[in-house]
Amino acid sequence: MTYDGPGPARLAPRHDLEPSSAATVSAGAAPAHPPAGPGHSPADLLARLRARADADPVTHVERVPARAGLPVPWPEWVPEELRAAFARRGVVAPWRHQAEAASLAYDGQHVVVATGTASGKSLAYQLPALATLLADPRATVLYVAPTKALAADQLRAVAELELEGVRPACYDGDTPRAEREWIRRHSRFVLTNPDMLHHGILPGHAQWSGFLRRLAYVVVDECHTYRGVFGSHVAHVLRRLRRLSGSAGRASSPAGSRDTPVFVLASATSGDPATSAGRLTGLPVAAVTEDTSPRSGVTFALWEPPLLPSADTSAETADLAPVRRSALRETSDLLADTVAAGVRTLAFVRSRKGAEVVAASARRALDEAVPGLGDRVAAYRAGYLREERRELERALLDGDLLGLASTNALELGVDLVGLDAVLICGYPGTRASLWQQAGRAGRSGQEALAVLVARDDPLDTYLVHHPEAVFGRPVEATVLDPANPYVLAPQLACAAAEAPLTPADLALFGDGAKEAVDDLVAAGALRRRPTGWYWRHRERPEVDLRGEGGAPVCVVEASTGRLLGTVDGGSSHFLLHPGAVYLHQGVSYVVDELDLADGCALVHAEEPDWTTHARDVTDVSVVSVRSYVDAGPVGMFLGEVDVTSQVVSYQRRRIASGEVIDTRPLDLPARELRTVAVWFTLSPESLAAAGVEPADVPGALHAAEHAAIGLLPLIATCDRWDIGGLSTAVHPDTEAPTVFVYDGHPGGAGFAERAYGTAATWLRATRDAIAECACEAGCPSCVQSPKCGNGNNPLSKADAIRVLDVVLANLPS
Ligand SMILES: [Zn+2]
Ligand SMILES: [Zn+2]
Repeated sequence: MTYDGPGPARLAPRHDLEPSSAATVSAGAAPAHPPAGPGHSPADLLARLRARADADPVTHVERVPARAGLPVPWPEWVPEELRAAFARRGVVAPWRHQAEAASLAYDGQHVVVATGTASGKSLAYQLPALATLLADPRATVLYVAPTKALAADQLRAVAELELEGVRPACYDGDTPRAEREWIRRHSRFVLTNPDMLHHGILPGHAQWSGFLRRLAYVVVDECHTYRGVFGSHVAHVLRRLRRLSGSAGRASSPAGSRDTPVFVLASATSGDPATSAGRLTGLPVAAVTEDTSPRSGVTFALWEPPLLPSADTSAETADLAPVRRSALRETSDLLADTVAAGVRTLAFVRSRKGAEVVAASARRALDEAVPGLGDRVAAYRAGYLREERRELERALLDGDLLGLASTNALELGVDLVGLDAVLICGYPGTRASLWQQAGRAGRSGQEALAVLVARDDPLDTYLVHHPEAVFGRPVEATVLDPANPYVLAPQLACAAAEAPLTPADLALFGDGAKEAVDDLVAAGALRRRPTGWYWRHRERPEVDLRGEGGAPVCVVEASTGRLLGTVDGGSSHFLLHPGAVYLHQGVSYVVDELDLADGCALVHAEEPDWTTHARDVTDVSVVSVRSYVDAGPVGMFLGEVDVTSQVVSYQRRRIASGEVIDTRPLDLPARELRTVAVWFTLSPESLAAAGVEPADVPGALHAAEHAAIGLLPLIATCDRWDIGGLSTAVHPDTEAPTVFVYDGHPGGAGFAERAYGTAATWLRATRDAIAECACEAGCPSCVQSPKCGNGNNPLSKADAIRVLDVVLANLPS
């Protein structure tokens, strides 16, 4: 047998009710899938993959050992009816972490369960929630997931338990009008997302009053996704929910009554989940973090694509000329190899474009080997229309597909477990995501392979040469900042429009709430009356939870009017500018027009052999300094800045080689942003003493800035596209050589603040990443940046190291 037939790499109703995630079939059960042949052991497979290259691309191999599960008896309080329902689904006993979290929640303690992929987190909230619904015929439960797809999967899982009187239902943008009233009146387990909560349920709370008053549990699933500005908004949406469900600020709860609703949160493994969950909900939250579910052993390889022969370094192509084989090409080759070997493989690619390119190249390679074989590879990402998603899911379920290239859309929503291999094209930005993606590999009792393929960028290069930074450290804490005034004020406006704000409410919304309310009064949005603050307008405030991005931009095929998908507003200038190549399900389109007023981009089908990469230019001015460190010739600052940025041009690059064809101008409006930045200054004398010639100062700072931006995700849960930077030999506000790094979101998202707080660690890693790169004069793996508005000019790699040495020598660690 060459290929795996339909097997256990099933689309589970997410991680939980699958037998593999509960004690049922853990010990001694026969694998539902024929064991892979000897050629498929992870070690053999890895040997086969690395044999292809001339130089060994593997920089490190880590064996993550298998773990046996730790089942415990059902907690006493779980009613027989519920035990029987789970038993029918093949779950005979919970893992210890599930029982522990469930019992805390059942006792009325807010709790977050933060364990790995497929560790059965759902059971931890289903048990207390469903037991309560069965015991109290009036109680209700609200479940909040970051995506509609995830809520739909959870609905299926709960519905399949067939419990009397629970009547679970999804309430989201797809819910037909005709069903909505029935759900509000009769469902006792409503599944929704933060956007629907914000735009629909809370503003319409009068119609939900019965449901909200009787709310026993609020489940917040995948809560680690609520980070940055979006996370800060969601934190206030949950406070609004607490306010309207009557628990917050309820003056006198009867003695002995519990604080309801009880919040149960589920998170991927993350640093300090109790604190993050506490920030998100505004409540004291206990954490359950020890994962007691069984895990397959995983062989985890770090893979650095080989250097290309340096054939052409002429001035024209030096700008981002490829130095290494691109991670996309490497990943598509690896995907083709594993699929050809009959190995069920999932490739995670960071960008939607990348996933399409990887799938298309792997298909081409396979078809060249065996015509028709390419059909067993497809692409998957968020933004596909529902029908397309379902069709892909079905194909995987049936085993028609063996290889899938996906954006991290699969991290949420659809749960594919039991894959033989996972390829991760480029570090996904956080160790939490890395483990979540790698966690897809492995099925009961079998070893699996995970490969991290480094992209040509400073962070990836650093990581494949510093495996201790990947394997030896705890995962990052989720960063969010509910006190961001750009989030707090609009959220308070929403709250006031729902019900007048009282002084007690201000405590609920936390630091800065009083100031924000005063500002809203001064701006004429709220009116102060003896009984509280009232929203003054007829219309509700318009607030977008997903930051400044604005409404999603629709991608429409001009000739047919067909809606291909959507792109979030914040990315639209980068992805949908005129001339941009937009890929959808392997079909390539070129953008004819971006209509910003209408929020749509018109495209036509066309298959050029290049990709497009937009670039922006930036200006920064200092508004205020919040905190600083005076370190002799070096200053380190945190403060507010105004940033003006504009997408000004795009490059066309050959898909196959990455070679730059040309750069074309764009005419898009500038966007303004007041945000938080971290910046450092150096005295010209200290630079001269370190051997940086005055003429080389701009290139030195610019190179240090690019690398510093590239390494920031090492310490904060952001990615390179969440942050921006600017460097200059003399900045008018600091009157010194300066490097700025700022949050790309209005009011800041906590990233610059985190960088300021860990500046020595951050800049040390930056310096090491530059120094350790094998290139001669700078490359995308160290100091070049794909989004540089100055075409990566000037850049001085050697002087950047000198700059950072001066900073590190003076900065207290
Ligand atoms: Zn380099
Ligand atoms: Zn630059």
